[in-house]
Amino acid sequence: MSTYAAPLKDMRFLMSEIAGLKEILNLPAFAEIDADTVDSILDEAAKFATEQIDPINVIGDRQNSPKWDNGVVTVSPEYKSVYKQFCENGWHAMPGDPKYGGQGLPNLVNFAVNEMWRSASIAFALCPMLTMGAVHSIEHHASDEIKQKYLPKMVDGTWGGTMNLTEPQAGSDLTAIRTKAVPDPSGDGTYRITGTKIFITWGEHDMAENIIHLVLARLPDSDPGLKGISLFVVPKFLVNDDGSLGERNDLICSAIEHKLGIKGSVTSVMSYGDKVGAKGWLVGKAGGGVAYMFTMMNHARIHVGLEGISVAERAYQHALTYARERIQGAIIGDEESKKTPKPILFHPDVRRLLMDMKARVEALRAIGYFAAGNMDLAKFSNDPAVQKKAQAYVELLTPVVKGWSTDSAVEITSEGIQVHGGTGFIEETGAAQYMRDSRITSIYEGTTAIQANDYIGRKTAREVNKETGEVGFTARALYKDIAAFADDLAKDAKLGDIGRSLQEGARALIDATEWAIKTYGPEPQVASAGSVPYLKLGGIVIGGWLMAKSAKIAQQKIDAGEADGYYKGKIATTRYYAKHWLVQADAVAREIMEGGPSVLGLDEPLF
Ligand SMILES: Cc1cc2nc3c(=O)[nH]c(=O)nc-3n(C[C@H](O)[C@H](O)[C@H](O)COP(=O)(O)OP(=O)(O)OC[C@H]3O[C@@H](n4cnc5c(N)ncnc54)[C@H](O)[C@@H]3O)c2cc1C
Repeated sequence: MSTYAAPLKDMRFLMSEIAGLKEILNLPAFAEIDADTVDSILDEAAKFATEQIDPINVIGDRQNSPKWDNGVVTVSPEYKSVYKQFCENGWHAMPGDPKYGGQGLPNLVNFAVNEMWRSASIAFALCPMLTMGAVHSIEHHASDEIKQKYLPKMVDGTWGGTMNLTEPQAGSDLTAIRTKAVPDPSGDGTYRITGTKIFITWGEHDMAENIIHLVLARLPDSDPGLKGISLFVVPKFLVNDDGSLGERNDLICSAIEHKLGIKGSVTSVMSYGDKVGAKGWLVGKAGGGVAYMFTMMNHARIHVGLEGISVAERAYQHALTYARERIQGAIIGDEESKKTPKPILFHPDVRRLLMDMKARVEALRAIGYFAAGNMDLAKFSNDPAVQKKAQAYVELLTPVVKGWSTDSAVEITSEGIQVHGGTGFIEETGAAQYMRDSRITSIYEGTTAIQANDYIGRKTAREVNKETGEVGFTARALYKDIAAFADDLAKDAKLGDIGRSLQEGARALIDATEWAIKTYGPEPQVASAGSVPYLKLGGIVIGGWLMAKSAKIAQQKIDAGEADGYYKGKIATTRYYAKHWLVQADAVAREIMEGGPSVLGLDEPLF
């Protein structure tokens, strides 16, 4: 077994060199926070993740996963104790707004810290993640009364929060939601909710004193589409005016799911209103529910992408530990290894697997951190032009962070098993858990197909500049910048080969983007058939660009006499990425531009 160690060097490098930490800390919103504070937060979080959360990951998965008994869900004592410490140490409140007890740190810092929680245990980290998602929705859209009543205790983790969208007939398509809300007959302005929600993460448990459910439901006579869906706060225990807990609301967790992975988390079937209707409070305006939930979902999408990065990092560390210990056979071309055996890490193919895992995780992390830094600039920069550009990047990159990081995580965690050989297939080794845990990440919060539809459609082919009429202007401008950077790097004496691979990648992405813009309107099915490969191409090339930028900075540091092996490593992983991933860009572009009709080429009865 391995122990998680936060990759602090890569995190700090990306935060300062790629994601703009210095610029962010200079913003008035963060006047109270300096680089030393950020450093010590990262150090302390790394310790908590390693010492407290990492050890319970296996407990939730294979030793003592949550139990359901007649509507009551109990988690292991270890989960309960770590959750308590997590809240008491202020980690739960950290991402919150200071108005409600949070620490008001840059999103970028929260992102890095959250990577640690999720590498240590996705299942555990989902609980605070969902609560903070619910906090965001309430903060942005609910009345002051609701905010004051719920947010302080949700921010510090005394109460949990959930998002209730999914119903048996309504998954990707929320228009199919049937849960009902009717005005309470007493006329007190509240509502009575009835319906069943499925797959609700941490919908019931005994770690928090109360659980505040955010529920999408339809009011009587509402529009049958998305505009007829409203959002309600539905607490497990009603909250009295003095903040104390009142009677139990009419809702119950009627079952929990038995899953492939993230077994330490609870996935609940929630029944609302079996008796008199669960009491709920409308958030914002009637009919605004889906838009409000999107506040939470955009936050959650980026964070599920981060789950992919985190679990892939953890799988890499686990595989690396094993590859350093396991001895098996002489190493090809190394006579010495016949006399003094060397571990499997020296077999070229094990090297390939580990390089692939490491380089891809670094590329994914670079995209994620770049997006996270832009979220801060979009919200807090006092320069409207910077804000506008950053917001456009966040929107373009959200489906890439979510879809590409999670699809990649499934592959990377599988490579982790391969490094272990047969041992990887055995549960006790621990490598299999990472693959099982990663599998959900490309499904919930919008499957990869939904992210890809968003990326090729709303974020590219349907994005129109109101002033110039240009379509896909954010994507076009970014990819042009990438091409210009590549042209420059191609002339570099030391990194020119990386620059040339990036040139080819940028060209492929630009071609595929022009194709997407041209095809999306007249042939939507053909464009949609190429959407997931298009998302992959975006991920490969944007990741390659940020890796190449990192390599350039690393080379400058080496040239300036900084001897840290990390910089040498960054250039090596970037070169690997260029030779193994950027070279795929051309083929993926052809798949997108030429492959659509063949996807649709088999008549339905012939399947
Ligand atoms: C462990 C777990 C935890 C979850 N947590 C929560 C939670 O906390 N709250 C919550 O509300 N939900 C939650 N979910 C539900 C989750 O968000 C949905 O499962 C997900 O959105 C997909 O919906 P679905 O399962 O109905 O699949 P479907 O929507 O039926 O999709 C099936 C297949 O069809 C494809 N597909 C569907 N529509 C399109 C389209 N328009 N274009 C292209 N392809 C399409 C999908 O990509 C997929 O491959 C959770 C699910 C699980 C398994």
